[in-house]
Amino acid sequence: ASGNALLRVESLEARYGGAVRALGGVDLHVGAGEIVVLVGGNGAGKTTLLRAVSNLLPAQRGQVTGGRITYAGQDVGRSRTDALVRRGLVGVLEGRHCFRALTVEENLVTGGLGRGASRAELRTDLERVYTLFPRLRQKRAIAAGLVSGGEQQMAAIGRALMGRPKLLVLDEPSMGLAPKIVEEIYRSLTTLNREAGLTLLVAEQNVRLALRHAHRAVVLENGRSVLEGTAASLRSRDDVKTFYLGAG
Ligand code: ATP
Repeated sequence: ASGNALLRVESLEARYGGAVRALGGVDLHVGAGEIVVLVGGNGAGKTTLLRAVSNLLPAQRGQVTGGRITYAGQDVGRSRTDALVRRGLVGVLEGRHCFRALTVEENLVTGGLGRGASRAELRTDLERVYTLFPRLRQKRAIAAGLVSGGEQQMAAIGRALMGRPKLLVLDEPSMGLAPKIVEEIYRSLTTLNREAGLTLLVAEQNVRLALRHAHRAVVLENGRSVLEGTAASLRSRDDVKTFYLGAG
């Protein structure tokens, strides 16, 4: 199954500021059409791995110091973030990424302009995003800085979708949001995956939630991938139950 992965990460190592080692050997792959979650506690390296994949480490004074990242069969270790976006690797990282003074709709449109979308394409894609996140349609004319945290997260994801990604990379979409909103967001993501074949790599601290929505999971500990398997197989493992799912 890993033979024709859309994304492949091999023996990846990364550091910040030349000193802090954040990743010390991560291996994972994401097949086309899969939902893969990256789980692990605080500081395990989830955000760093997603930054490396999107080439956002330099902005954090970090760098990849070993290993390889391949996307659609090509080594992308040195590809700029905007070039990756044009090739369909789009991330929602570093918070919710909304232009607070722009309306929700203007925020969405900026996601389509990046790939040079025509007016007709923008209209079609806006309609798709509003169908997926009906709350955004209601709030389309309101400044993004004035909508709820959950709606900002939906707008950030919607903006990424306007770039027509093949692989969407999300960092903790559930962070700080009410369970009902989190469910709504994950339901929309799984719908996109099922109906449009969108491939997803999602970092998630809430392991129970992650395993409920993903096909596969990769567990990071201290900057290393230590466990990998289908969501069902991980849910039934005693060590995963003990360390990540509470006593149950
Ligand atoms: P969290 O859920 O807390 O964000 P995480 O699994 O995403 O955890 P990372 O944020 O990737 O983990 O952190 C991995 C290691 O890298 C930690 O030791 C962290 O302190 C360090 N680190 C993360 N970001 C930076 C940065 N910008 N500069 C220096 N060190 C950093």
